[in-house]
Amino acid sequence: MSPHPSPATPSDEPRPAPPSRVLVLNSGSSSVKYRLLEMSDGSRLASGLVERIGERTSLVRHTPSASRGEPRERTGPVADHEAALKAMAEELDADGLGLDSPALAAIGHRVVHGGMHFTEPTVVDEAVLAEIERLIPVAPLHNPANLTGIRTATALRPDLPQVAVFDTSFHTTMPESAARYAIDVRTADEHRVRRYGFHGTSHAYVSRETARLLGKAPEDVNVIVLHLGNGASASAVRGGRCVDTSMGLTPLEGLVMGTRSGDVDPAVIFHLTRVGGMSVDEIDTLLNKKSGLVGLCGDNDMREIRRRVDAGDEEAKLAFDIYIHRLKKYIGAYYAVLGRVDAVAFTAGVGENAAPVREAAVAGLAGLGLEVDAGRNGARGTGPRLISPDGARVAVAVVPTDEEMEIATQTYALVRKPN
Ligand code: ADP
Repeated sequence: MSPHPSPATPSDEPRPAPPSRVLVLNSGSSSVKYRLLEMSDGSRLASGLVERIGERTSLVRHTPSASRGEPRERTGPVADHEAALKAMAEELDADGLGLDSPALAAIGHRVVHGGMHFTEPTVVDEAVLAEIERLIPVAPLHNPANLTGIRTATALRPDLPQVAVFDTSFHTTMPESAARYAIDVRTADEHRVRRYGFHGTSHAYVSRETARLLGKAPEDVNVIVLHLGNGASASAVRGGRCVDTSMGLTPLEGLVMGTRSGDVDPAVIFHLTRVGGMSVDEIDTLLNKKSGLVGLCGDNDMREIRRRVDAGDEEAKLAFDIYIHRLKKYIGAYYAVLGRVDAVAFTAGVGENAAPVREAAVAGLAGLGLEVDAGRNGARGTGPRLISPDGARVAVAVVPTDEEMEIATQTYALVRKPN
């Protein structure tokens, strides 16, 4: 100890730790999912969801980190998004993680459609809200719910930065040759008809994690990312930047999905109108909700489809074959777009778990350097892992996605940036 200790001054007092938590909110039309993260070590402090908002049997499920206790669940009416966020706030409060905590640095919001305008995560102000609102015609199901989530969270913590992270941002690097449809330019521009792409936070995260798995910088690798969940999309990522993706103006284009058709000849719509006597709304529902795997065989869960295929069910087999055929076409297309491919990464519910899908998707592509090692592909695992044989020309990998972590990372990076 110093012989002449100086008197304590305010600057000697321990400084409060800078805020290091981020709350991620994913507000859908009838649900809110949330996750509270400690960004200094990436740990999950709590997560949860409120489902069936507006119904009498809404569900609130809250899962604190293991050290804070057991998951809790209750059902009962949750009238609207405001009530849903209040329910979330109460649950967090009960774990000592209340929204009034000075440790909270920001709230990060998933926003589905950012159009051409939002190329990066953005701190929300009135102008940003107005732009998200202006995009409602191209995202009628999602953007209104995302806006409600932002407005409600702002009311709860008006002093805190609210950050919008857009599903479309990662795809704004696509060249015009990939982003434009070959339709009359003036009509397209007037109605903002172009390919925007979705699942961007997942494609960004997975392409970066794939580079890390290969021990390389994202700038040095070309990756085809296959995000196969209930919704599904592929992307071609050159040196960390998206150069093509399979979803378009809306999430309907591209791969065969759980309930969505993916690519069809647009004339199918005219035909169903003129010959089938269907309305535009009916066709919208048909292609978005009653097509894809569910339209082909009545099931959209890949586990059930595989069970039926293994039992010799012809209808399920055809659905599986159509799904794989489309997937393979996109792998080939993106191979051609990229020219050189370092890795193909499978992610999301189907991509991470369904070994038969991965095996079938690359079967017969050894000529392109794509192969799967049966033992590695069949082995259970949780983290990023290679499933191609040693020495393969193209790495084939399973890379679990984490959209909430990506939203939190982007949010935290933005609010910590010096002005
Ligand atoms: P989303 O976020 O688009 O709703 P997910 O990424 O959670 O979807 O993926 C959900 C899908 O993952 C389910 O419909 C199911 O088909 C598939 N899935 C989940 N687990 C498995 C598994 N073990 N085997 C095959 N498919 C699976």
